[in-house]
Formats: sequence, structure tokens, C-alpha cells
Amino acid sequence: MTARLGDFLMLQRAKRPRRSSLLWLVLTSPGLIAALVIACSDATAPLPTGAIAWNPPARFALWWQMTESCSGRQSDLRAIRWYVVPSATSIDFEGEKVQGVTLGTDRIVLADAFKMNGSLVRHEMLHALLRVGGHPRDAFLVKCDGVVACVTTCETDAGGRPTPAPSAPEISPHDVATRIEVVPRQPSASRDDGAVAVIVSITNPRSTSAWVRLTPQAPGDQVSHTFGVAFDYDDDKRVFTRAYDWTEETRLPLGPNETRRWVWDDVLPEGAYGIRGWFNSDTAQRLVVNVSP
Ligand SMILES: [Zn+2]
Repeated sequence: MTARLGDFLMLQRAKRPRRSSLLWLVLTSPGLIAALVIACSDATAPLPTGAIAWNPPARFALWWQMTESCSGRQSDLRAIRWYVVPSATSIDFEGEKVQGVTLGTDRIVLADAFKMNGSLVRHEMLHALLRVGGHPRDAFLVKCDGVVACVTTCETDAGGRPTPAPSAPEISPHDVATRIEVVPRQPSASRDDGAVAVIVSITNPRSTSAWVRLTPQAPGDQVSHTFGVAFDYDDDKRVFTRAYDWTEETRLPLGPNETRRWVWDDVLPEGAYGIRGWFNSDTAQRLVVNVSP
């Protein structure tokens, strides 16, 4: 039996944080992604109702490379057949509403509204690369944590995240070694439509579980930013976009030496950009990246 996997996502957050005064404010996808439901069946399962063949955009090549890189598995993206359900926010699949589904190991169906959601697409890519059913912890919650979406049902299926005891040590955002990685290392506006991703990571420096104490955005605020990124036009006073994830929790749990990641996905035209990543009150060193023609 091969696996047939339906991934069910739903809007998790009812409340938005206050808007910043910056030109664009992007609430990125990971915070919107919730339940992932799987089912086991044969690889010859019929396509969901309304699914039509689809040529994915060039950006998918970068997303595939990112998923290969985090999982340590390689395969040929061209072997995947893609389908989309037009004008849909969900797909009816075995009695569930899902946003993406991998049939067997080489057919991926996406709901129209989510077809450019990098972390959802990479989640389905990871199923295809692993060629196994379910959500193995080592891949979904450890190696590819944050690069692929894995919350609620996926998280449960993968054995859940570490939960420190309430009395476990508290550490500061300045203790978690916030860092960023830009992929590809030398972006080009003409390759893969100019696809770029910035991976912001933190790591628990302790060999025991710990809580990261989060600072709210403003005194008394219910919301704390977690991971974020800001872009400027090679001048840190000319920030033109920023994106972030956020939580209403006051502490973020980390397992022993656990690394957590968050990804910004987009395309960049040719030019020089300053990129600054942060985690709550901690800021990574600003990088300057040149996007070649
Ligand atoms: Zn899944």
C-alpha cells in the first residue's frame, strides 16, 4: 500500500496584530496554516473533483531544492504531476476539506488559493520526496521544521513538539542565536522567476528544554512577534517590506538544542538589498544581497 495524503489547512488566527506604518506589511503563511489530515490508500486514487492538470511556476524549482536540502533526499521535480482545483480555497477529499493532497508519490493537487503558499507546497513536496505515508518526526518536525508547514494534525502525527515543564529554565531571545540564510546564495532575477527565500532560524543553546520569554510588541499588548524579516534598498533607512510571524503566547517552548525555522518566500528584481532577520527582540546581522540580472 502506498500512501495517499490529504493536507487540511484552516485559518488558525482570528486576530491580527496592529499594523505597522511601513509601506507593506505581510503576514506570511506559516501562521495561517493549521490542521493536516492524512489518509492511506492506493496510488491509483482518482483525482479530487474539479482538479485539472497544471504547470507549476518556475519558483517551484527553488522550493523543491529547499525541500531536498532539508530532508537530505533527492528526486527529479519533473517526475511530479501537478494539479490545481481552480477558484477553490479547499479540495473535497475523502469527506474532508483539504488545501493540498499528495496522491501516491508523484501527483500533487493544490487548492487554487494555496498554490503559491511555499510552506504548504514544500509540505507536499516532502511527502513526494520521502515516499512514505504520514509525517515522520525526523523530517517534518526536525530537519525540515519551518521549511515545510507542520502544525496541529501533522504535529500530532509527528509525535508533537517538545513541551518543557512549566518550571523549565527561561531564556531570552538574545540567547537563541538568531540567524538568516538566503537561498539561493547568489539570487538571479532571471532564474526561477527571481525566486528567493530567507530562512530565519533560532536554536536552543541548552541541552535541556527551555522557554524563550517573549517581549510583547507594546506594553500590555496581547501579541508578540516571533520570526521576522525586513528588506531595504541597500540602505537601512529605506525599508520597503517587512514580514513576520506572531503569537499570543508569552513564551515559546524549545526542546533540548532544538532549532526552529521560519521562511519568507517571494521574488526579487535585480538590485542590491539589505536583509535583516529577527526573532522577537533579537536581531540577526544585516546582510547585503545582490540579485544579479
Ligand atoms: Zn501531510
